[in-house]
Amino acid sequence: MQPYDVIVLGSGNAGLCAALSAREQGVRVALLERAPKEQRGGNSAHTGGAFRVAYRGVDDLRSLMPDLLESEVESSDFGAYTQDDFFGELAAMSQYRTDPQVLDTVVSQSLDTLQWMTGKGVRFMPIYGRQAFKVDGKFRFWGGLTIEVSGGGLGLVDALFRRVEKDAVEVFYGCRTQHISRDPDGLWQLSCADGRQFSARGLVLATGGFHANLQWRTQYLGPGWDLAKVRGSRYNTGDGIRMALDVGAVAHGNWSGCHAVFYDVNAPQMGDLNQLNQQKNYFHLGVVVNADGKRFIDEGQDFRNYTYSSMGAKVMAQPEGVAWQIFDQHSHALLPDEYRGRQVTRIQAATLQGLIEQMEGVNGPALLHTLEAYNDAVQLDVPFNPAVRDGRSTQGLELPKSNWANPLDRPPFVAYAVTCGITFTFGGLKVDSQARVLDEEDVPIDGLYAAGELVGNLYYVKYAGGAGLTSGSVLGRIAGTEASARKAR
Ligand SMILES: Cc1cc2nc3c(=O)[nH]c(=O)nc-3n(C[C@H](O)[C@H](O)[C@H](O)COP(=O)(O)OP(=O)(O)OC[C@H]3O[C@@H](n4cnc5c(N)ncnc54)[C@H](O)[C@@H]3O)c2cc1C
Repeated sequence: MQPYDVIVLGSGNAGLCAALSAREQGVRVALLERAPKEQRGGNSAHTGGAFRVAYRGVDDLRSLMPDLLESEVESSDFGAYTQDDFFGELAAMSQYRTDPQVLDTVVSQSLDTLQWMTGKGVRFMPIYGRQAFKVDGKFRFWGGLTIEVSGGGLGLVDALFRRVEKDAVEVFYGCRTQHISRDPDGLWQLSCADGRQFSARGLVLATGGFHANLQWRTQYLGPGWDLAKVRGSRYNTGDGIRMALDVGAVAHGNWSGCHAVFYDVNAPQMGDLNQLNQQKNYFHLGVVVNADGKRFIDEGQDFRNYTYSSMGAKVMAQPEGVAWQIFDQHSHALLPDEYRGRQVTRIQAATLQGLIEQMEGVNGPALLHTLEAYNDAVQLDVPFNPAVRDGRSTQGLELPKSNWANPLDRPPFVAYAVTCGITFTFGGLKVDSQARVLDEEDVPIDGLYAAGELVGNLYYVKYAGGAGLTSGSVLGRIAGTEASARKAR
């Protein structure tokens, strides 16, 4: 077979953006996907489709959402989310370990890249349902997240695939690449599990992290991570990372870190595209307790967008690895769809005592004491406002709730049983701002590029919601362009 100009491995958001940008340069492109067609799109298909983007105000948002209605503009306070906000928040959350050059590239190209995606057929819209609360008659967006893709992750993947097919990218499903090497002519040679062979001048790795590799999870994240439920694609087992390491790439980033959230105890063990939305991320509006009847986190430390990715590890450290999120009707009314699915583990009672009696395996007297002490500690004189860090906290508790504290006093009371669901892993490969994969001496490996979850440069310790898709799009687009430029050279 004639060598391709560019081969992209992985048909998630990063790989699809890479394939489209390479194709835009007029070169011959193949996209190899390990999963069968029905399960294409990787973790990206499982997402809610929320994108973090730097914007100066509503005019920038209009460039992403030409369908935005004047009535929506009038009834919404979109505010601004500047490049400084975006960069500063991610840098601080990584404890300043993130790669400033690569992060700067992601942040400064976020708006332009999303505009490019709209040109490829992706439809953005405001995230009214999950990221805005109505305050004083206006929808106010919070936590740096303002837009999502119409149709969520499946909508995103479908839109990009429609364009991939229109642009005549050659797609191969059920094609698990297992080995890559460079031949003396500088071509990348690829072997797949079913015996198919491919070659290309430029190779883009976009195969995701290793959250679905039980052995690596235990080895790198640590004991107990073998027991976590997997939220997303079963196919992200670290293949791309391993193949790159085999050809001299350096291991980089926070290999013992991952994104993991509160997840319904009855959710399937492995992500399922027919049962999405099993996460329970609005804990910041309620109270979270373990089987000993104790609180173990400051639920209101910050907007959940900045704390949720650490909650999986927190719940895993509790007895039996489970916890309960408790709400009364005041906060329950503010919860999004993820609390409403048919299979959600939910109990309800008219009294706190009645609720506790239904919570299997919990130390009831201790829990009642915890909830009563919490109720007594809420500072009622500070107004509640879910759209800002309202400072409505508890006073006098050893473990405070720092914002959005409401006493549990409006029955019926509702509890959701949660455990740990892993989303993706942080560690991976080192790239530069041109998405080139680097070796131990920081020298780019000729013709090898990476984008998306397998890039180890960005997330350490914590993660800000919506950054994953944006970084995959920005670096994927760059990787595709750079890889195709090799033909000209
Ligand atoms: C439930 C859930 C919700 C999320 N919500 C959001 C959100 O709203 N916003 C956000 O920014 N992020 C979200 N994320 C994180 C987000 O999924 C990732 O940051 C992003 O989608 C990763 O894209 P990617 O292209 O790097 O990887 P993926 O989309 O996972 O794609 C990797 C692809 O590579 C394929 N592959 C693996 N090995 C091979 C191989 N050997 N050969 C060929 N192909 C291979 C896989 O099958 C897969 O299709 C969410 C994640 C999950 C699981």
